[in-house]
Amino acid sequence: MPVLVMKFGGTSVATLDRIKRAAKRVGVEVAKGYDVIVIVSAMSGETNKLVGFVEETSPLFDAREYDAVVSSGENVTAGLMALTLQEMDVPARSWQGWQVPVKTTSAHSAARIEDIPPENIMRKFGEGMKVAVVAGFQGISPEGRITTLGRGGSDTTAVAFAAAFGAERCDIYTDVDGVYTTDPRICDKARKLDRIAFEEMLELASLGAKVLQTRSVELAMRYKVKLRVLSSFEEQSDDAGTLVCDEEDIMESNVVAGVAYSRDEAKMTLVSVADRPGIAAAIFTPLSEAGVNVDMIVQNISEEGRTDMTFSCPTNQVQRAEKAMMEAKAAGKINFHDIVADTAVAKVSVVGIGMRSHTGVAAKMFQVLSKEGINIKVITTSEIKISVLIDRKYMELAVQALHDAFELEKAA
Ligand code: ASP
Ligand code: MG
Repeated sequence: MPVLVMKFGGTSVATLDRIKRAAKRVGVEVAKGYDVIVIVSAMSGETNKLVGFVEETSPLFDAREYDAVVSSGENVTAGLMALTLQEMDVPARSWQGWQVPVKTTSAHSAARIEDIPPENIMRKFGEGMKVAVVAGFQGISPEGRITTLGRGGSDTTAVAFAAAFGAERCDIYTDVDGVYTTDPRICDKARKLDRIAFEEMLELASLGAKVLQTRSVELAMRYKVKLRVLSSFEEQSDDAGTLVCDEEDIMESNVVAGVAYSRDEAKMTLVSVADRPGIAAAIFTPLSEAGVNVDMIVQNISEEGRTDMTFSCPTNQVQRAEKAMMEAKAAGKINFHDIVADTAVAKVSVVGIGMRSHTGVAAKMFQVLSKEGINIKVITTSEIKISVLIDRKYMELAVQALHDAFELEKAA
């Protein structure tokens, strides 16, 4: 029998009624002849509640016990889903991570899946079980203790099962009906995409972050697992949602698939640093040690042996970055005349694998911004993405103008 993986997020199993609705969808796939592996999240809000209990009990908690507590939300939904399916006369059984077993590293609260031996579940399928309901987000360490995969980890559980069982597809049921060309909240012409390539999905993470855990997309790309994102609140149909797939499965890729943005960016400039070998390392090593997530980096042309170094980071890391730079200066590791932070910037990016074979995307993007009178402060590019930093107050305008210029309202 072909295997299908169906993952239901927290909102899709938030109440007994919703579990029933999800179970009905599972029943439809079983009737088509699939052996189904259902991955469930905890009921929405449940994991946050459990994390709160742990933090209140023990601020510097032992991560092994954190995992013991926060993994429990998924045990509840797995058992309830199996019971609901049984009530519908669908042969179903729940599986906790250790029972499968989902073997992980021992990095408690942020474990990585190392292996999922399919034998136990396959044997049960052979004996007539039609649905294995697996508690997402959890596994077992080499020491035999329960682990969790990090917040949002049940997406990763789902993709890992699809890879381990050679599933035909991995359907991720959530509360949005797919991946959009941009955020519909700031651009009313945003369109749902029928297909998007793995790489584009990774770049659009700022839009899709709430839809799919980034790690799960990386995993799907590595194992070429077809992922479908769809809403559990809409009519069930075979072409609903967005298929995240290999670019070879997309007939004609859009030059630009989407416009992404990130609101909370800051731009920092170290004015007049010595332009010498090792200066970049001397600046960015302490920033990385201080946990600053540096994104864009620009080094100006040097004049008389001195240059300006500009980088961007999240707004809430500016103080940390300044502190790290002042300490490096005090320790004589770097020298600069001034440090200037601009905390009112936003990043806007256009993303699309078609850029590899089409020229002029950057030029068009800059023309659009220029026509709107928007000044570009920093530019970076990759093979499939062009990003600019602009004043935050123009962010919405930039997203809408770019969405228009690249005719994304016609995207599909
Ligand atoms: N319940 C876990 C969380 O809220 C895992 C998940 O839902 O993906 O992070
Ligand atoms: Mg989620």
